[in-house]
Amino acid sequence: PSPMAKKWIERFYLGRLKKICQDVSGKDWGICVQVRSERELFGESKPKAQRLPTISLNPFYTFENFVVGKNNHYCYAMAKAVAEKPGSLYNPLFIHGAVGLGKTHLLQAICHQLLKERKDLSILYLSSDTFIEQLIDAIQQGGLSRFRYKYRYVDVLVIDDIHYLANKEQTQEEFFHIFNHLYTSQKQIILSSDSPPKEIPSLQDRLVSRFRWGVVAQLEPPSYETRIAIVRKKAELKNITLPNDVVEFIAQSFSQNIRELEGAVWKLESYAALMGDTINLKMAKQVLADLIRTSKSKISMSDILEEVIKTFNVRLSDLQSKRRSQSIALPRQICMYLAREFTNLSLDEIGEYFGGRDHSTVAHGIEKIAQLTEEQNPKLYSQLQGIIQRLKKKQEAS
Ligand code: ADP
Ligand code: MG
Repeated sequence: PSPMAKKWIERFYLGRLKKICQDVSGKDWGICVQVRSERELFGESKPKAQRLPTISLNPFYTFENFVVGKNNHYCYAMAKAVAEKPGSLYNPLFIHGAVGLGKTHLLQAICHQLLKERKDLSILYLSSDTFIEQLIDAIQQGGLSRFRYKYRYVDVLVIDDIHYLANKEQTQEEFFHIFNHLYTSQKQIILSSDSPPKEIPSLQDRLVSRFRWGVVAQLEPPSYETRIAIVRKKAELKNITLPNDVVEFIAQSFSQNIRELEGAVWKLESYAALMGDTINLKMAKQVLADLIRTSKSKISMSDILEEVIKTFNVRLSDLQSKRRSQSIALPRQICMYLAREFTNLSLDEIGEYFGGRDHSTVAHGIEKIAQLTEEQNPKLYSQLQGIIQRLKKKQEAS
């Protein structure tokens, strides 16, 4: 943004940036820092091949590194088509699926291809978290018109995890206008979410219907064969040698979440490196035992929600809403607590189920329930114990 910033970056960051680029790509890069004026960034004249500042991608999330199987080939085909012809055929492209099934990977793959092949386009990739943050900043600093402006000259807008817009009325409102503007100018919009448009809590109907104007595609968990291929691919990318029986063991053990599958490969690799040993089946069984136990526990968030909804006679939309009344907040905190006990979702992931609450809110909720004693609230305590018993039974049965 300024000559001062340029000097600063050159002085303190250039060396590190170069090193990172080299580590990631294995090549030497020259980096040149340029000052761009406000007018160029946000003004009337659209600079050629504008690269908006908010694009940071994982270099591994490319189409080449994406393993295609029955579970994802439709999403993959749509993503490919959009990367080849943005703005024309499938607009918006809406990809949804559970955590760890490749939404971010596919979205970024589109960006990588466009950045490489379509230097004439300006692409903006961001998570809806960032979108919300920027909007709040803009409102606080009176820069709302500038915020809106920024999106006007985007050719491709990619927003990851759009379900964070749940229950956020003003953000939805702003997004609605940006969406309309881009859509009518035939600019490509690409969105991902953990659920289909209709199931995002309190998403305005007009947004739900707009999201369905284009293509809504779902990512499913991969089959055994696809999991084998993914494990092989991950090992190959990092030059890890895995015996076949280990590949099969990992593919059998993690079925619902590709991030876990991948995590198992990395964990095994770092263990082997640390011990200076080669990877074998016995080692894999021992090192991955913990990961497998948590992953195998077949209790899902929907099991938990179902129990809590029944026990406390609340509605799903209440649990996911902003309401803070005790009658809603307590059951919600109980869900969070149970999710921590019975699933291996992270605090942020748990928060996502409840209207995008952040991890500190979730941690607070869990703590509160963990400290609940029988003397404090006998009825609540026994209700909670009842749910825990039923979930445990279910877990053992699976
Ligand atoms: P999501 O955004 O849906 O939670 P991600 O895109 O972050 O999931 O994927 C989780 C991890 O799994 C990433 O490291 C990604 O590279 C990997 N992954 C997901 N799907 C595939 C696939 N089909 N082939 C290879 N890797 C995959
Ligand atoms: Mg993601």
